[in-house]
Amino acid sequence: MDSSFSSSFHPGIPPKLRLLFRLTDSDNWPEHPHGAATSTPAAELGPTTTSLHLHLRLPSPQQSPAIVHFNHEQTSPSLPSHPRHSTNMAASKKYAVDFLSFVNASPTPFHAVESAKQRLLKAGFSEIKERDPWASTVKKGGRYFLTRNGSSIVAFGVGKKWKPGNGMALLGAHTDSPALRIKPISRKFGENGSYIQVGVETYGGGLWHTWFDRDLSIAGRAMVRGEGGQIVSKLIKVDSPILRIPTLAIHLDRQENFQFNKETQLFPIAGLATAELNKNPKGEEKPEGESETTEGEFKPLAAITERHHAPIVERIAKEAGVEVKDIIDFEIILYDTQLSVLGGLNDEFIYSARLDNLMMSYCATEGIIESLSSETALDDEPGIRLISLFDHEEIGSQTAQGADSNLLPAVIRRLSVLPAEGSSPAPPSTSAYEETLIKSMLWSCDQAHAVHPNYGAKYESSHRPEMNKGPVIKVNANARYATNSPGIVMTQEVAQKAGVPLQLFVVRNDSSCGSTIGPMLSAALGARTVDMGNAQLSMHSIRETGGSHDVEHAVKLFKSYFEHYSALEPTITVD
Ligand SMILES: [Zn+2]
Repeated sequence: MDSSFSSSFHPGIPPKLRLLFRLTDSDNWPEHPHGAATSTPAAELGPTTTSLHLHLRLPSPQQSPAIVHFNHEQTSPSLPSHPRHSTNMAASKKYAVDFLSFVNASPTPFHAVESAKQRLLKAGFSEIKERDPWASTVKKGGRYFLTRNGSSIVAFGVGKKWKPGNGMALLGAHTDSPALRIKPISRKFGENGSYIQVGVETYGGGLWHTWFDRDLSIAGRAMVRGEGGQIVSKLIKVDSPILRIPTLAIHLDRQENFQFNKETQLFPIAGLATAELNKNPKGEEKPEGESETTEGEFKPLAAITERHHAPIVERIAKEAGVEVKDIIDFEIILYDTQLSVLGGLNDEFIYSARLDNLMMSYCATEGIIESLSSETALDDEPGIRLISLFDHEEIGSQTAQGADSNLLPAVIRRLSVLPAEGSSPAPPSTSAYEETLIKSMLWSCDQAHAVHPNYGAKYESSHRPEMNKGPVIKVNANARYATNSPGIVMTQEVAQKAGVPLQLFVVRNDSSCGSTIGPMLSAALGARTVDMGNAQLSMHSIRETGGSHDVEHAVKLFKSYFEHYSALEPTITVD
């Protein structure tokens, strides 16, 4: 999109030499923040080309440079090093590649929360529980996180100069994406029993036609009986492609527009019903219709291997490290096994599932971690820096762990009355919660729509966001987005300090408009709110396209927000 990405090579250098420059520059890519790169398979990283553009305006991160672990077939390890242009480019690519490892490890909201949790733990955050009192655990200068349902996570750092009723810099995003979810009873057969099929429900508003002909697998969480009889939740991620929804050959139906029935044709095939697959988990032939239930024992529901195909339950049990009999229930969705990669001639794109909204979930996590990376980061901080990554945005957020629940208000309420340093344990002002809310701000961060070159008429003529040109502030007169002027002013101030470019978006009057967690949280909290996100194409496709340089843009912007909010807040008030 940006001409500076493609025009940065010396004109006249033959193509082979250009490639040489790209490859040698890759030798100077630094290690990812938090070391995630070392475990990233080469296949995730895409072409080993590196854009030698001079476009970057941002300082390089503090992390120390170095280690090469890119071994693409075309790469020659003996190529001489060419340090020119390496620093800024490497900084930007480092974030993009680190994001790939985050999204590839996170096929479900449960995994996204686990990925965020691991990064927070590594950065020195401590886990706390909603079910415990916090009075003696949450301290000023501390960094904490909590999860709800294993699919939403809230992380925060408390300023050492915190007083009850002070403001908070809040940043929200969501962990879920449209997907197909395995039904409670999924054991189905097609074509007189010859195909093994799996019943699935649609979750959210996916572009379901993109789920056809993809190599699908399963992931989620299982409730299993642990040692001692306790029921525990286990993360499940099967890596091999075991499911597929095949299209119909064009010869059999020459329909111009691809139309299909979501119940009967968006229906995955898991295999052929051979004798082997009809075996029960112990490997013995199981007569048709035989119950797994031990005679005489009352079971309110049919056994899990009767409700689901036994080989699927076996895979889940194997992933959970338990016996099939110990699987009590599970919440499993389908995901595309193709790994996220960098793409485009200059690696300027990210091709990936779930950019909406793991891109913002990742940037929120890294943004708060970077803002708190120094030991003294909270010494002069009078406020609280907080991110909240919610499940269930794609289905309206009105669930126990969604943005329309009491999750964020409850956390803010508990934190708003944390006593000040050295003050008596006497309860603070009864209006501390309300005082905190009105001094706080919420950045509602969710992906935005980049202008599509083939559908340009769908976009408003003056608001056409581009990838790699920075986060997009979303505005809507009918409050489908919560942004208002104080929000835009604050965001501009923060972006100015970070050197991050911003863009503006409104939809056409004759177009429908998406929405976000911004309006509902804004209404619930009464805090100033701005809706924003990075520009991407193909939102809700199984394979979306985003800008690789925008990862760094958003991390830097969020870091700057957390670092500067408390100082900027009193300067932008509208009572
Ligand atoms: Zn979204």
